Amino acid sequence: MNTDRLLQIDRDHLWHPYTSMDHPLPCFPVASAKGIQITLETGEELIDGMSSWWAAIHGYQHPKLNQAIQEQIQKMSHIMFGGLTHRPAVELADKLLTITPEKLEKIFYSDSGSVSVEVALKMALQYQMSRGKEKRTKFATIRNGYHGDTWHAMGVCDPETGMHSIYKNRLAPTLFAPSPQISYYDQWLPSDYSPMQQMIEDNCEEIAAIIVEPIVQGAGGMRFYHPQYLIYLHRQCQQHDILLIFDEIATGFGRTGKMFAMEHAGVTPDILCVGKAITGGMMSFAATLTSAEVATVISQGSPGVMMHGPTFMGNPLACAVATQSIELIMQEETLDKVKSIESQLQLELASFEMLDMVKDVRILGAIGVVEMKEAVDMKRLQECFVKHGIWLRPFGKLIYMMPPYIISASELSKLIRGLKRSISEVYQIDF
Ligand code: PMP
Repeated sequence: MNTDRLLQIDRDHLWHPYTSMDHPLPCFPVASAKGIQITLETGEELIDGMSSWWAAIHGYQHPKLNQAIQEQIQKMSHIMFGGLTHRPAVELADKLLTITPEKLEKIFYSDSGSVSVEVALKMALQYQMSRGKEKRTKFATIRNGYHGDTWHAMGVCDPETGMHSIYKNRLAPTLFAPSPQISYYDQWLPSDYSPMQQMIEDNCEEIAAIIVEPIVQGAGGMRFYHPQYLIYLHRQCQQHDILLIFDEIATGFGRTGKMFAMEHAGVTPDILCVGKAITGGMMSFAATLTSAEVATVISQGSPGVMMHGPTFMGNPLACAVATQSIELIMQEETLDKVKSIESQLQLELASFEMLDMVKDVRILGAIGVVEMKEAVDMKRLQECFVKHGIWLRPFGKLIYMMPPYIISASELSKLIRGLKRSISEVYQIDF
């Protein structure tokens, strides 16, 4: 099939994330991806600045990850997890337990980030039901959060910025506190926590759990908030017997400069969701981890089992490649690599702050954000990105990069240069 025909069928029949079927923005056809490079069918080679949405942290086709999948496929690509177990699932559990807080020792595997959030919410409800706390049925969170696209995950996303505003009055009611205003880098003021404190006090007998993305709010605005907020939240949840759920689906596995973003605050939640980079971006997979206490209460209540069990639970291919990805993270001094990406982003993105159309530039770990004052012209910008040999995917007012950790200093410079040239062209400025 030639490329024109491929694009025609794509346009006529395939939905892409958050796009119109009638007026989709153009899609660029990818032929392959290797290391830091994406190769288009039309021949262009692009430096990847997105890690396929936080996932491909080791770049594409890492030989060790390819090998892990190839070896596993010789044995079995999938087998049901009901009544059966297997080495890849157990070895991954063993690995995950070495990098996550000791308290979180019970693991539930699922197929995607959103599903791992559903599992976390169900765990929290079952926990409260099993303790006879029938009134604790509500979830609470902060504004600007994003936790996925499935039904109850949508319910705990910000009703305006969380991409699901059209469903607002159809989702289960959730309690929302204003988002933290003190940024990661600013001086902490306890008053930043006051609205959440009040909301918990007013509803403490009805809240089953509070869910937040620790430190970095991703799709709801790429905001970095102060670690003290989490310390306060953790303390108050404990006081009121409310479960605390951390969604580390985007931030996990080194992205913020720590293995998990919660480590910036030194607090451990009752339930933790991880996904995206867990397989090094090789395939969809996620896990929900919890404490022995939560698991025991669920198991001793009625019906005495966790009421969830996806068909592809514990998929052996995903488990095998996830184990290898975590091994790579541990062997390759990943956090040092993230630190050097952070320093370079700080140096080379600084000049964007001078631009009239830029509201803010912020960096944390291997995440660089340029927030514009107005929404960007995505179509024009993306055409320029491709012309200048880079791949970024802005949304709304946000142009951001989170490259694979394997990016070299010169490739990262090229990525930022490509962004500069694209902005110069689109905004017709000399930059
Ligand atoms: N939580 C967060 C913080 C996310 O960034 C995402 C994905 N954008 C999800 C949950 C949902 O994950 P998935 O797309 O794998 O369902």
